[in-house]
Amino acid sequence: MMVLTKKMIEIRGILQKVGQSGSLTLPSIVVIGSQSSGKSSVLEAIVGHEFLPKGSNMVTRRPIELTLVNTPGSGEEYGEFPDLGLRRILDFSSIQRTLTELNMAVSDADCVSDDPIHLTIYSSNVPDLSLIDLPGYIQVVGQNQPLQLKQKISELCDKYIQPPNVILAISAADVDLANSTALRASRRVDPRGERTIGVVTKMDLVDPTRGAALLNDKQYPLRLGYVGVVSKAPSSQGLFKMGSTNLMSTIAKHENSFFSSHPLEFGPDAGVNVGTVTLRKKLMHVLEQTMSSSLQSTTDTIRQELEEATYEFKVQYNDRPLSAESYLAESLDAFKHSFKQFTDDFGRPQMHELLKSELDQKVLDLLAARYWNKPITDLSQAQVEPDHISSLPRADSSSLYWHRQLDASASALTKLGVGRLATTVVASSLLSHVDRLLNSSNFAAHPFARQAIMEAASTILNERFYGTSDQVENCIKPFKFEIDIEEREWAQGRQHIGEVLKKELHDCEAALNGLESSVGGRRKLREVISFIDRARKGDIVVEGDGRSGAGGFSAALLTKGREAVFLRDRADIIKMRLMAVKSKQCASVKNKYYCPEVFLDSAASKLASTAVLFLNVELLSEFYYNFPRELDLRLGRHLKEDEIERFAKEDPKIRRHLEVIRRKELLELVLEKMDSLKQLEGRERERLTDG
Ligand code: GDP
Repeated sequence: MMVLTKKMIEIRGILQKVGQSGSLTLPSIVVIGSQSSGKSSVLEAIVGHEFLPKGSNMVTRRPIELTLVNTPGSGEEYGEFPDLGLRRILDFSSIQRTLTELNMAVSDADCVSDDPIHLTIYSSNVPDLSLIDLPGYIQVVGQNQPLQLKQKISELCDKYIQPPNVILAISAADVDLANSTALRASRRVDPRGERTIGVVTKMDLVDPTRGAALLNDKQYPLRLGYVGVVSKAPSSQGLFKMGSTNLMSTIAKHENSFFSSHPLEFGPDAGVNVGTVTLRKKLMHVLEQTMSSSLQSTTDTIRQELEEATYEFKVQYNDRPLSAESYLAESLDAFKHSFKQFTDDFGRPQMHELLKSELDQKVLDLLAARYWNKPITDLSQAQVEPDHISSLPRADSSSLYWHRQLDASASALTKLGVGRLATTVVASSLLSHVDRLLNSSNFAAHPFARQAIMEAASTILNERFYGTSDQVENCIKPFKFEIDIEEREWAQGRQHIGEVLKKELHDCEAALNGLESSVGGRRKLREVISFIDRARKGDIVVEGDGRSGAGGFSAALLTKGREAVFLRDRADIIKMRLMAVKSKQCASVKNKYYCPEVFLDSAASKLASTAVLFLNVELLSEFYYNFPRELDLRLGRHLKEDEIERFAKEDPKIRRHLEVIRRKELLELVLEKMDSLKQLEGRERERLTDG
């Protein structure tokens, strides 16, 4: 029937995908032999190509797990290294080179490794077989080789020659079989000779009578018997590398002429098995038998693995189904949902607040530059004493100077680039909100998706950036010429700037306190402040530039002192201006020249409100509309299957969950295949007995 091996090889492929090939070994044929016993020649005769590494320097250092797949009717012959993810290799000398490189990657110091190389060869000329080539046994350890090498090789081989594997023990005819390392090794693990096939190579090198005697060996009788071969092709090796002639048929022809010229010893009546063709048939037959008899135990092992996976799925994951696609879709939906919620909470009022507080800072800077630099007695002539508050401030409203000051401040405010400022503030706030939403979403654990989402957001915002900032700049243009403030707006501005000044005062005081503790106390700071004050007034003469070491204070202390003086002065002015703002004088827009703080605040509010109208249309609504669509575009249907897989597996928890499901599915599939194989086998057996 010979379908079992093929099916089982397919199943092995599936199991390898589950990463379970270690615990679930399906039977293979393990090839062992001493170096130069002709092991490679036998394998190549079976495959029909030269493809194994050649050379004297221990060229087989890793097990080669070789799968032969018969592809009936196909003219193409090629190899694949599934672990390397290379394309099919049509040129066998290139397979040979790759194998050599993979073997030589094991250092001279280690010499052997038990990490197998997987190679699959597809051809209509090969039988379905699974073979494992192992490093050859050595007699003496070479110069650059580790002393324990002999033992390492033997241990490696021992690992593979365990049941249910079939042992192909290679011995050369010109060496006494009693000395064959391969046969000795197999005898240790298979003392009754039940799963060993003896191959005697180089039959052409011994006298035919002696050769025939070897094949009838009674010392170590084998149930599967001995096969004699001459697997060396006659002297024109180069030819086969070209792939023009099949090595297999050349060898077969050569063997045929050799064995048939000694009919007495090797003829049909001699009762011995000879020839590579016979060997191949035997291997197929034996492997099929072994597969068949291990069907039950393999099924049992797979069932057990499946039970374990099912249990894990139930206990760890509550039987919760999951696929990379569904995970992505759910995550995306949840994210879009949280984004939707955000859009409900972030609109014009929020943008206004953001922009206004940015403009508040600009207003404070302008005030500091134009009004608060001492002396400002002109603006607030009275002493800062409670009794005199009512007389604050007293700037002459007809004075051209104060008109100019206010006009210049207003012009600086309107021309500071509100369009750009507003757009930047809102765009970067949107980005940081998206980032915050990401942090509390599934995507937090997915750098790949995270990046895609941030890119989606910034792409949309970047595209709108210049258009929006131009629009905003355009629409605030009238304010550059005139700012008309109504009493209602003035009242609001007066209220608001009061808060802003209080906050600024608070910040100044906090910074002063911070300075105090950083210099080691209030007293110390006072000393240095009073020194600086006196030096400024000219009460004392400071030598040099007064910057370092003056007055017995260190340069660092002086710097801090100057900072403190600045903060103190700033706090004093703010206190004074706060009183001014609160005073009756500032109650009406009519007194705007006395109250630049209120005027600029009201102006800033007007700018913010106008800007927000356009930001809302040009930036926010566009972003709210396009962002979810852009997400679908980048993370939705357009992602390829492997990209989705890669995405989902970025999260280790999801990865494990997906892997358990996949393992379970594959094991179920394998078990199903095994069951139908068993049925097929049963029917075949019935047919045979009926027949
Ligand atoms: P390995 O080291 O066990 O893989 O052995 P090889 O297959 O490389 O063979 C060792 C040497 O023996 C090579 O020079 C082969 O050409 C030669 N050889 C292999 N099989 C035969 C054979 O059947 N007859 C003869 N005369 N030489 C052979």
